[in-house]
Amino acid sequence: MRTSVKDVYACGDCAEVYDFVHDDFRLTPLWPTAYVGGRIAGFNMCGVVKEYKWGTNMSSMHFFGLPVITAGISANDEGDYEILKVVDEKKKIYKKIVLRDNRMIGMIFMNKIDRAGIFLGLMRNGTDVSSFKEELLSDDFGLINLPERK
Ligand SMILES: Cc1cc2nc3c(=O)[nH]c(=O)nc-3n(C[C@H](O)[C@H](O)[C@H](O)COP(=O)(O)OP(=O)(O)OC[C@H]3O[C@@H](n4cnc5c(N)ncnc54)[C@H](O)[C@@H]3O)c2cc1C
Repeated sequence: MRTSVKDVYACGDCAEVYDFVHDDFRLTPLWPTAYVGGRIAGFNMCGVVKEYKWGTNMSSMHFFGLPVITAGISANDEGDYEILKVVDEKKKIYKKIVLRDNRMIGMIFMNKIDRAGIFLGLMRNGTDVSSFKEELLSDDFGLINLPERK
């Protein structure tokens, strides 16, 4: 969060920060980004060296009573992506996971948003999901599906 100017730090909406999905620096104008960035800036201003590696685009909202969570790249159905999708019109459930090289780079969940944190963790850690890809969109996907840590 240190700028190119000595003793000047920046965070929040006025600062570009590292985005782990895009592997690049960009504006991510969200409240959690501002909070975490401010914390990291504070540490560095006090001489405790810390790096911001935390964020990507993410939103949670309600549309017409339907909870929706998104993170990372939503992607069109074309391009260098693998898309996993579940559409259940009756239950008004839509789930989409975007993969590149067997790693999650995006998600959209509508009306079934449980365990979004686990999915975000997979994105953040760049976890290779090839061994449990088929289970990602199953109704009861959870920590139990993840391979044991070696
Ligand atoms: C309508 C709207 C909806 C949003 N919804 C969401 C959401 O659902 N989820 C989410 O994560 N983010 C949301 N955001 C974004 C989020 O509010 C911002 O990313 C976050 O507030 C950025 O924090 P900040 O500290 O950088 O800036 P701000 O929160 O804008 O704080 C900047 C402060 O600086 C003050 N200031 C400005 N100029 C001066 C000056 N010259 N001297 C002294 N003080 C000054 C301002 O008064 C303000 O208090 C939303 C933003 C908007 C506008």
